[in-house]
Amino acid sequence: MRSLSFQATLWYAGLFALLSCTMFASIYVSLVAGLRHRTDEQLAVSAKEFDTLYRVHGLGALHDEFRREAHSRGVRQVFFRLLSAQGEILAASDLRDWPSLETQLPVVKTAIHDQSFETVYPLGHRDGVRVIFLPTTGGKILQLGTSLFGNARLEERYREIFGRALAGVLLCGAILGWVVSRRALSGVERLRQTAIRIGNEDLDLRVPLGQGGQEIDDLSMAFNQMLDRIQKLIQELQDVTNGVAHDLRSPLTRIRGKAEALLISPVELDAFREMAGLVIEECDRVVSILDTTLEIAQTETGLAPLARQPVDLSHILDQAVELFLPMAENKSLSLEVLGSPIALEVMGDKGRLQRVVANVLDNAIKYTPEGGTVQVEAAKKASQVILIFRDTGIGIRPEELDRIFERFYRTDRSRSAPGNGLGLALARTIVEAHGGKISVSSKIGLGSTFMIRLPAATPSRV
Ligand code: ADP
Repeated sequence: MRSLSFQATLWYAGLFALLSCTMFASIYVSLVAGLRHRTDEQLAVSAKEFDTLYRVHGLGALHDEFRREAHSRGVRQVFFRLLSAQGEILAASDLRDWPSLETQLPVVKTAIHDQSFETVYPLGHRDGVRVIFLPTTGGKILQLGTSLFGNARLEERYREIFGRALAGVLLCGAILGWVVSRRALSGVERLRQTAIRIGNEDLDLRVPLGQGGQEIDDLSMAFNQMLDRIQKLIQELQDVTNGVAHDLRSPLTRIRGKAEALLISPVELDAFREMAGLVIEECDRVVSILDTTLEIAQTETGLAPLARQPVDLSHILDQAVELFLPMAENKSLSLEVLGSPIALEVMGDKGRLQRVVANVLDNAIKYTPEGGTVQVEAAKKASQVILIFRDTGIGIRPEELDRIFERFYRTDRSRSAPGNGLGLALARTIVEAHGGKISVSSKIGLGSTFMIRLPAATPSRV
């Protein structure tokens, strides 16, 4: 009973019934009024004829005509009377079938100047009698009555037909409602079946479009989009799990190998010291991988909300350059800051923005061979603060430009350098959480340029 089909069926049947009742009722009312009008007209015509006869040929002729006419139309169906002003019957048709006429019909309608009508219910005439009163010469009154039996039968017949038609209409309405609702809901049914199949078998399945109206298509599209997103999330989860598992295996294998070698070799304190050093180093690596993975996930999902305070990016850049200068000097790299030293403020999380700058600058130095150059620059353009990191390093192949921002992705050319492939993924997550964008352009062998755009705290008017 709670199914939409059932409810739609009820609605359709109810609506059809209501509409047909209204229609039949209005027809019925006009039918009854029409019949009444026709009866009155006929009575008026007859009354006029009798009146003329009486005026021209007198009482005797009228009396004869009363009797003749009543017999030809049926003495149970009609009666005719001529009454004096005092109510005395001067002439009448056969009144044997109208016993209660005297008591029920107002004998005299005094002071009438024009014809008038009345419906009365004498004994034996259940359906009523329509009577016309017509004033004639000398204050006398002509009374003509006709039984409404014929009209009543006609109305009854009409009601019977209507009852049958209503039953038919109700049935049609119910069938139509059922068919229409089944058709309209077939898309929902398909959606349900697909959802069940997806749940049981295959996450690659999608609901086919274009088979059930616009609303169903919209619903299917929303459902398919949700599935795409779920599938992407599952894929990402798998990638992260695989990446973490892969990257944890190497340090753990190294620790295990070292420990094994130590077990079978003669006990030497230096070897143990070296082993302890390696364990600490590898543990740091593992902790760093776990921390970074967690931070990416928390920033992406909003579980660790960003602090929102004014942060001067040129200051952060200066601090980072200062920090990385010894590393650059070690590799005989020239590390330059371009542009004038003005404050460039964004609203953001200082600690996280520092990590972004450090990761990108670290990469620039790491992937630039000795003797190269790394340039950093901060500038403001319209409502954005832009950070640029240029290096003359190994470069990135065009097909890998997008992939380097994925978690755990490292290009083949960088495998010899230390790293875990999480630095740029974290940088992108943080920049996007701030409403910014990070992009890269690069040429193999010539170097790369990373650009970070963030919304400025106070948009400039330029
Ligand atoms: P990693 O720890 O490997 O540096 P990142 O996520 O920071 O991880 O970078 C991902 C990959 O992008 C790096 O392994 C490297 O292959 C490439 N990459 C990043 N920065 C540069 C750069 N400045 N020059 C060339 N390649 C780079």
